[in-house]
Amino acid sequence: MHCPFCSAVDTKVIDSRLVAEGHQVRRRRECLQCRERFTTFEMAELVMPRVIKSNGSREPFNEDKLRAGILRALEKRPVSMESIEQGINRIKSALRATGEREVPSELVGNLVMEELKALDKVAYIRFASVYRSFEDIREFGEEIAKLEK
Ligand SMILES: [Zn+2]
Repeated sequence: MHCPFCSAVDTKVIDSRLVAEGHQVRRRRECLQCRERFTTFEMAELVMPRVIKSNGSREPFNEDKLRAGILRALEKRPVSMESIEQGINRIKSALRATGEREVPSELVGNLVMEELKALDKVAYIRFASVYRSFEDIREFGEEIAKLEK
């Protein structure tokens, strides 16, 4: 690829390694012209199903939005970025594994809840209380009681 600094056509790969559990290739490149070095990441482009919202409209799967929702639920909780990224990857794999071109947004929400339940119970309750908008305090209490078993 062209050099992002001087736009020279030729850049040389000086190092190449697998990252993200083998799902990405990280390459260090050097420009033959200006000698600047930079990094590129390569990953497979996999088609995610579109999401059917509760009002029937469709939207493309949005990983940033998914991550933002999960990070909000996990705010100030003792969970590493790495565990979060693994959780997001599992959600994406599960969505692809449906083999569907469109999936209901509830499916995405349920997958997020499953991951949060495994990662951090407080985050799970936070997310569930917003996502499911528990009808009343009793229902919320029941959900917490279920966790304590
Ligand atoms: Zn250059």
